[in-house]
Amino acid sequence: MVQRGIIIGRFQPPHRGHIEVSKQILREVDELIVGIGSAQESHTSENPFTAGERVLMLTRALAEAEIDLSRVHLIPIPDVNNNAIWVSHVLSLSPPFEIVYSGNPLVRRLFKEAGFKTRKPPMFKRKEYWGTEIRDRMVKGGRWEELVPEAVAGVMREIKAVDRLKDLSKTDYLLR
Ligand code: NAD
Repeated sequence: MVQRGIIIGRFQPPHRGHIEVSKQILREVDELIVGIGSAQESHTSENPFTAGERVLMLTRALAEAEIDLSRVHLIPIPDVNNNAIWVSHVLSLSPPFEIVYSGNPLVRRLFKEAGFKTRKPPMFKRKEYWGTEIRDRMVKGGRWEELVPEAVAGVMREIKAVDRLKDLSKTDYLLR
């Protein structure tokens, strides 16, 4: 039987830590499901990229890391306003899986209560490989490229991500 594991994240943007953890999970299971969480969100400082842009960044980065894409399934998952039904919502959108990998205690709790095996994967350089740090450096003109795979930096340049983030941070300022 094919064994599948799922990892769900916002991937705003995907970084080197996400790719390391994906490689690690693929040593333990046959197939990896990457759930792109908060898929309805985009164009805010916290969630600047659309689900489609995140699919593109992840696909390119996984391929660049020489991960066999026939072993990976990418699925966008919009949030629901009710934690108690979120697991059923995820199940309705995803290929079947047995193991849930997450560093997020709420995600592990919800799946554990639904009877799934959960595992907490190792973190890689969490202070740097962290979406908030990367978005912050992009707005402030810092060195962000080294924190993401080259393929992700390429998509960011293609969609003019730095300009978008800088504009979004001005909008946040005006709304305060
Ligand atoms: P995240 O992007 O912070 O992280 C995703 C995973 O990547 C983590 O679990 C962690 O294991 C791994 N990771 C992150 N940094 C790493 C590093 N440096 N090295 C190695 N691994 C690293 O995502 P998150 O906040 O856990 O995302 C959960 C998603 O699930 C969100 O979109 C959230 O909205 C959604 N969610 C929704 C509901 C609901 O709709 N009711 C409920 C629960 C969760």
